[in-house]
Amino acid sequence: MFTPLPDKPDHNGLELEILELWEQEGTFEQLRERNRGNPKWSFVDGPVTANKKLGVHTAWGRTLKDVFQRYKALRGFDQRYQNGFDCQGLWIEVGVERELGLNSKREIEEYGLERFAAKCRDVVVFYSEELTRGSKRLGQWMDWGNDYFTFSDTNIEYIWKFLARVHERGWLVKGHRSTEWCPRCGTSISAHELAGSYVDRADPSLYVRFPLRDHPGESIVIWTTTPWTLPANVAAAVNTEAEYGLRENGEWVAVARYPDARFERRVRGAELVGLRYEGPFDDLAPGADVDHRVIPWDEVSLDEGTGIVHIAPGCGAEDFDLAREHDLPVLMPVDESGRFYDEYGWLHGASTAEAAEQIIGRLEERGRLVEAGLYEHRYPECWRCHTPLIFRIADDWFISVDEIREPMRRANAEVEWVPDYFGKRMDDWLANMSDWNISRRRYYGLPLPLYPCSCGHLNVIGSKADLAERAVEGMEQLVELRRPWIDHVPIRCDACGEAVTRIPEVGDVWLDAGIVPFSTLGWESPEWVEGGYATGASRGLSEADLPDHAYWEQWFPADWVTEMREQIRLWFYSQLFMSVALVGRAPFKRVLGYEKMFDETGREMHGSWGNMIEAEEAFTRMGADVMRWQFCAQPPNQNLNFGFGPAHEIRRRLLTFWNSTKFLVDYANIEGFSPTVADLETGPPAERPLDRWLVARTQALVAEATEAYEATLTSNVIRAFDAFVDDLSNWYIRRSRRRFYSTDDAAFRTLWYALVQSLRVIAPVIPFLTDSLWRNLVPGGAGSVHLAGWPEPGEPDAVLLEEIAEVRRVVELGRQARAVSGLKLRQPLRRLVVAGAEGARPHADEIADELRVKEVEFGEVAAGELRVRPNLPVLGPKLGASLRDVRERLARGDFEELGEGRFRVDGHELGPDEVLVEHVGLEGWAVAAEDGVTVALDTSLDDDLRLEAELLDLIRAVQVLRKESGLEITDRIRLTIPDERLLEFSDRLAEETLATTVEPGDELRLEKA
Ligand SMILES: [Zn+2]
Ligand SMILES: [Zn+2]
Repeated sequence: MFTPLPDKPDHNGLELEILELWEQEGTFEQLRERNRGNPKWSFVDGPVTANKKLGVHTAWGRTLKDVFQRYKALRGFDQRYQNGFDCQGLWIEVGVERELGLNSKREIEEYGLERFAAKCRDVVVFYSEELTRGSKRLGQWMDWGNDYFTFSDTNIEYIWKFLARVHERGWLVKGHRSTEWCPRCGTSISAHELAGSYVDRADPSLYVRFPLRDHPGESIVIWTTTPWTLPANVAAAVNTEAEYGLRENGEWVAVARYPDARFERRVRGAELVGLRYEGPFDDLAPGADVDHRVIPWDEVSLDEGTGIVHIAPGCGAEDFDLAREHDLPVLMPVDESGRFYDEYGWLHGASTAEAAEQIIGRLEERGRLVEAGLYEHRYPECWRCHTPLIFRIADDWFISVDEIREPMRRANAEVEWVPDYFGKRMDDWLANMSDWNISRRRYYGLPLPLYPCSCGHLNVIGSKADLAERAVEGMEQLVELRRPWIDHVPIRCDACGEAVTRIPEVGDVWLDAGIVPFSTLGWESPEWVEGGYATGASRGLSEADLPDHAYWEQWFPADWVTEMREQIRLWFYSQLFMSVALVGRAPFKRVLGYEKMFDETGREMHGSWGNMIEAEEAFTRMGADVMRWQFCAQPPNQNLNFGFGPAHEIRRRLLTFWNSTKFLVDYANIEGFSPTVADLETGPPAERPLDRWLVARTQALVAEATEAYEATLTSNVIRAFDAFVDDLSNWYIRRSRRRFYSTDDAAFRTLWYALVQSLRVIAPVIPFLTDSLWRNLVPGGAGSVHLAGWPEPGEPDAVLLEEIAEVRRVVELGRQARAVSGLKLRQPLRRLVVAGAEGARPHADEIADELRVKEVEFGEVAAGELRVRPNLPVLGPKLGASLRDVRERLARGDFEELGEGRFRVDGHELGPDEVLVEHVGLEGWAVAAEDGVTVALDTSLDDDLRLEAELLDLIRAVQVLRKESGLEITDRIRLTIPDERLLEFSDRLAEETLATTVEPGDELRLEKA
């Protein structure tokens, strides 16, 4: 006996039950034990930042990770299953600042770095537990408890080692550069953090007059959207090739920008170069000494503004480069927090936003403002705190990329990217990458081990042991390799022997995550250290070992990694960088990337918009299986619109599969069928063509799914499974239903085989539902579908599969023809003629039965009329002026049929999607055609056919009545029918309705026999 199934699955309840069973039975441990020592499949987990609960975005990636690890486990591969948490950097700091109500770096320092560090660690502890809980609920099987935490001292030491190696090659440079800067966070932002952080903003748009010193009454006019940069103005740039004109009001502008203006004089830009002008704020000390002049610049755009560009080298990257070229002074108006320095007089202490108003007011008072308005544009903001970024000149530490760029591109070329255009994106990124800015002026992060000495020597510490050896003092108080403690350990300079202190900066978080393929796998580690990875801040959170180098050799590079697209310039990039720098090759062989997630209407999800879905809510309302299905159904090159609407549709589709299973369970229990587990190995002894077909169809599913998993395309797995379920339910069961009303062992064995094999191939995607059904359907088999191994596809009978595929096409067309004719489905018909589906010929009986026709003929369909019209939206652009001719010829029937939906008209060959084809049958025939198959249904009726239709209506009515009367499907009945003419069919009536007697009477009645 199978356990009876309810009408539909309760996903949430069923999943919680299965989780409990996995826990009790140690299913995952059994799986790992079984695969231990087998060939390895190496997956490296990209760390999730431990600063939030599991969201549906993260659940997407976690699902893909789990699906492929499960698949590979079913195939017997030994795997590591190590989960990772990202634990340092601004993500963590910003959350803690918010919680503590701290608004500036000064306030953090007043709060105390030691307390601040403890708070940051608390956040990681709390959210790593939350994420673990959510991930387990999602069904993700990982080696929980042996996670890597990037704030581990071991991880930090590995980055130190990397930096020391980089320094040996001379790639570590201190830069005095213009950089994007977050004034709230008080730190520079590197290029890879910028992409994707542009938002729409309205900023002031100012046209400002700079009077020319030696030409009284004349001014140049510039345009800017950043008023706060005006006090730092030192030059104005013109395009030497462009034409500039002097307007009647004495203003010089580019002629191209003012097509309607009248100009008194016109000159080439080159003639303006060298002119001196009064700066906008010469009243402020920094500007007073500047010799403001016009400089040439090829990049001056004539697409916006006035064609004259205000140059402030302390506030812009290009401006800074121009300053070097033209030896201009660099004025830096704002400090780390984006506030004006004291020497800026009336502006001192103002933020860039506050300054804008004062600046506009002053310009207006002094008659310098030509025009002020608003300008809508895309502007970058800080990706962590959403403060608009500014440019500052800062002394940052960089890794020079000149020497590593080409090796990285070569290494990337060896990686197999899915979808493949992600590989191209990576190459673009590498081709254009600028030096890696690795320093951040922050607190809770990797301490950069750089100790520049006043003697000119840069000391770089490569390990904790190295630090201990060279420390002047402070080792005893070094709780973790972290601020504040590390700052109290000065070292002795290699070159001069003087004591040197560490720079205060911490490292870019992508160093933390990028080192993972080395730090967690024990690269260059002389011995295996138990618990050796769980050091520093991660002590007590994990028991992860530090393996030895031999282990690294076995598991590096990763066979596969997967993350969202933005990781191309983040984790994939930093890993690739560090790996090429350390060992000269890519850290992964294959990458699956995927696009973005939106809500089901295609909008971004935001907490404040009320359309964010918490994973917790999704588990209870749709179930983890349905979430996973939704993630997996999405081709990775398209954005996913996630939500409860699509989930509803998925539940509906899963219900078809559920119903097929329930059908088997219900009738098997009635007929006392019990399965032969060995059928899963050998296949059931199918003799009938329909049974043989289902076996072949099942084998084909296994083959298709295997191929899809191997290509890491879950969407293809889902598509194959969906098509299979349609065939199973709408063909096999539909065609064989009656066989299950008796002890037809072959039918039961075949259906059972098909259901169980299909469960197995979809198990990695929906691990809960499949395991629940497996445990019910396969008594005496492996205790869990996840311990059952991977089914062999065998050699599907391709001929038979193609034949039935044709049969299903013919039936589909037959249904269309019926729909066209307006005849109801229960009306039997005389004849169907089929042209062009020769493969279906051996199965004519099936077609006749399915379409309720007495006879199926294969041959020519008596020529009806074929109407072909142009598909205008497609053909219009293709044919242009010839379209009218083609349309007329088509209307006249002046065309040649080329087969497979193609036509030749007036020398043009038209494909199936370029024309609209309609078949009009001869009188008395309904015709449908598609892809070279045409069917014609004889629609003429006679008395016999009409009477049979009435019989079928009656049978249907009895069946409905049976259901309404609450009879069991096996109950026998006594039947009374009102129409005596139908008594001649009483045998058939009795058989179809399980009637023991059929009597005439005044109305339709039945009672239990
Ligand atoms: Zn910020
Ligand atoms: Zn020195």
